[in-house]
Amino acid sequence: MGCQSMKMEFDARSENEEFARVVTAVFMSRLNPTLEEIDDVKTAVSEAVTNAVIHGYQGKEGTICLKLSAEEGENRRLFVSVQDQGVGIADIKQAMEPMFTTDPSGERSGMGFSFMEAFMDEMKVESEPGKGTRVFMTKYIGR
Ligand code: ATP
Ligand code: MG
Repeated sequence: MGCQSMKMEFDARSENEEFARVVTAVFMSRLNPTLEEIDDVKTAVSEAVTNAVIHGYQGKEGTICLKLSAEEGENRRLFVSVQDQGVGIADIKQAMEPMFTTDPSGERSGMGFSFMEAFMDEMKVESEPGKGTRVFMTKYIGR
């Protein structure tokens, strides 16, 4: 039983995305997840961090905060929060629609939020234009 947590801040650079994924995988190992559960969470964290780097800070300097907490016991759960202080999102509902992207290059498919929703059990986005964005996600382990 009990809840354990950690917090990490890192520069908004794409090189740090792998770092965030590995830290998350190591942290969640205490919940005895399957490889599939680990992969699901790593994918979701990767999408959220990539969004913060590319959209939140638009390639400019900034800091991303990753918070992880684990609830052990009968209903094992991992809580993840990825937060940036970037440009924010004006219309969250629209941003979360599958295939919606503001990227003009044609390289992005607009599926990041859809993947986060599909691979995690709960997801919530809070954002304010000019202030930043926070993505909360929960993964149930062992269900
Ligand atoms: P993909 O993830 O498939 O490469 P994408 O990043 O455009 O494409 P989503 O991850 O679903 O797709 O995000 C949808 C849109 O939401 C983005 O195009 C962007 O406009 C906005 N968005 C997402 N995350 C952030 C963020 N942290 N800050 C500002 N805007 C964001
Ligand atoms: Mg994305």
